[in-house]
Amino acid sequence: MKKTLFTGAIALFLLAGGAAVAQDLQVTATHQDIHFLTEDGNLQRGVRCATADLNVDQQARVRAEVDGWLASRSGEAVTATQIPVAFHVVYQRKRGVNTGDLSQSEAQDQIDVLNAAYAGTGFSFYLASFDSTRNNKWFTRCASSGQERRMKQALAIDPAHNLNIYTCNPSGGLLGWAYFPSSYPESSFWHGTVLLYSSLPGGSAAPYNLGDTGTHEVGHYLGLDHTFFGGCSSPGDSIADTPPEASPAYGCPVGRDTCSGGGPDPIFNFMDYTDDACMDEFTSDQAARMTAQAALYRPSLGN
Ligand SMILES: [Zn+2]
Repeated sequence: MKKTLFTGAIALFLLAGGAAVAQDLQVTATHQDIHFLTEDGNLQRGVRCATADLNVDQQARVRAEVDGWLASRSGEAVTATQIPVAFHVVYQRKRGVNTGDLSQSEAQDQIDVLNAAYAGTGFSFYLASFDSTRNNKWFTRCASSGQERRMKQALAIDPAHNLNIYTCNPSGGLLGWAYFPSSYPESSFWHGTVLLYSSLPGGSAAPYNLGDTGTHEVGHYLGLDHTFFGGCSSPGDSIADTPPEASPAYGCPVGRDTCSGGGPDPIFNFMDYTDDACMDEFTSDQAARMTAQAALYRPSLGN
């Protein structure tokens, strides 16, 4: 049996002495945790999400700052934030055939999915700009820190005021990743989300082709952790109204309950790893904590 191995380097950014330092994680087949369909109908192994967790110290600092912000605002209505999206399609042309050459209307379909998913959270999105770039190297190696840097430095539009979304074909079948708002200054070009082009609504990557990779990665961009972060131990994902969950859920395992107490696992939550058709909710504490992190760490966004 042929074993799929790849050595795509995924950029990991860890805080060392308060400064963000880029590190490369050599991703191997052992990280691959999903299967999805390619454009030619084959099943490909892949990786659900490569957003790097905050470390324990960062996690504690963000939780304290968010708690403080929420306490100071208790009773006030959540303000609406309209987020302009700068959408960047990166595609490849090989032997005369274009791959990943998404249209502006396909980008708009992704924005529509975001708006449906974030309805009720206070956040909404609109397509502020759209560009399309043919670059075979960025298309296939966007998950290597060097190519990610080049691509974002060339394409990013005013990251303090815009959510930059990039589509490409990351190595190893990676669906997407983002960076937490607390990880960099709001104007950093690293911010934004990178998505597998075929994960957009109507793409080939079933069961991850309804656009909820975008929903999930924008959740990280606004500061949310995975629902299974921290497993069964408190404070878990720092969200009061998502029951603790021992590990990622895949497919749509209704009734799954991996931690004692708290109720069934939050498998319908956008921040779990279930199929796009399964996930359909953010909780009110997730909405509050996204609002707090946008105010604390992305104060220019939507203003
Ligand atoms: Zn994730």
